[in-house]
Amino acid sequence: MKKIDTLRFDSKVIHAGQSPEDWQGATLPPIYQSASHSHPTAENLSATFSGKTTDHIYMRLTNPTNRALEEKLAALENGRGAVFMSSGMAAITNACMALLRSGDEFVCGNSLFMSTYLLFKNVFGKYNITPRMVESTDMAALEAAINDKTRFVYLEVIGNPKMDIPDLRKASAIAHRHGLPLLVDNTLASPYLCRPIELGADVVIHSTTKYLSGHGDATGGVVIDGGKFDWQQGRFPDMQPFVDRKGPLAYLDRVWREHHINYGTTAAPLHAYLTMVGLDTLALRMERHMANTLKVAEFLRYRPEVTWVNYAGLASHPGNRTAREQFGEKGFGGLLAFGLKDQETCFRFINRLQMIYHLANLGDCKSLVIHPYSSQYVSFPEETRAALSITPDLIRLSVGIEAAADIIADLSQALDGLR
Ligand SMILES: *Cc1c(COP(=O)(O)O)cnc(C)c1O
Repeated sequence: MKKIDTLRFDSKVIHAGQSPEDWQGATLPPIYQSASHSHPTAENLSATFSGKTTDHIYMRLTNPTNRALEEKLAALENGRGAVFMSSGMAAITNACMALLRSGDEFVCGNSLFMSTYLLFKNVFGKYNITPRMVESTDMAALEAAINDKTRFVYLEVIGNPKMDIPDLRKASAIAHRHGLPLLVDNTLASPYLCRPIELGADVVIHSTTKYLSGHGDATGGVVIDGGKFDWQQGRFPDMQPFVDRKGPLAYLDRVWREHHINYGTTAAPLHAYLTMVGLDTLALRMERHMANTLKVAEFLRYRPEVTWVNYAGLASHPGNRTAREQFGEKGFGGLLAFGLKDQETCFRFINRLQMIYHLANLGDCKSLVIHPYSSQYVSFPEETRAALSITPDLIRLSVGIEAAADIIADLSQALDGLR
């Protein structure tokens, strides 16, 4: 067994979570396509149900392929444990519901992923749970929104499509001062760019559907527990049974035991397997995604048809400094937004693209474009779209890992046709 902890990230992403000795020497985990696992004795099954062994029982609870991925992802984020689930939304639902009761509140950024926004506003709203949404970079507003009913602070590391970058060190200091954990969605940055637990976050969530799997071939989500938050300091007496059972992994135990397995948000092992394969190239892909995105942003900035470009990699972006501090000068992510004259011009531009795919996803190897105002957000009220910065002139581009010159050539010929 190699000493994983001493490896650099680019090596760790390949070697963490590997146990070829358990896989007959295979370098990828077998896809354990079995709904249930047989036990040698009645005593063994009883011990497993009591949590005294880590053996597998039933696929909705755990699966050996998924566990290999969980170990890899926990190692990459410097967390103590992880649970892999069927989608990013499953991870967000379980991560939040584990802490929420009717009447509770939480504080979150206002530039949320679309389904996260709907979950917080509409679904949680049905259970008398109130999200207090604030500008995610406004730390004074974040602190002012905390009260006795607050159960956690929730932020996205890079907002989409606002591309705002909250200061996670400051946010975690505020949360901790009030005895609250900080939960963050790290999907857009990936652990290659940002490891929020190192910056003070307590829980990290990913949609693994995006950069982690990287090929648009699997859905998944993960909740990673930093294992450092002290649940016994006052606000969380209801966490005591989980602390008694699992100590530093109390929160993850609650996510898994009380929510994940009862909601049935299980991921099929094929998705864990595909994500394991994808992760082998995460570092290389992120490097190329980000180098390409910077080139595309610079190209778009000088095109007369483009009215504005929103990317934290541009020195003029308000998030540029925080991104440099927080992402260790590695880059600024692979997603950008830009403006054209109006919706009609956006449609003409998209319809002229030849190589770039037009679809609702991001973080794929392939470059992807979408007009969010008329697609994902088409049925949102106008004031909500405005609050989320979803304007009719906005194009969102997830820059792929093709040759930058080909991405730019496709954008260029599509823009040429708008004249
Ligand atoms: C896609 C996405 C999600 C939801 O993930 P799914 O796997 O589609 O459920 C959550 N957060 C962010 C930032 C995302 O981009």
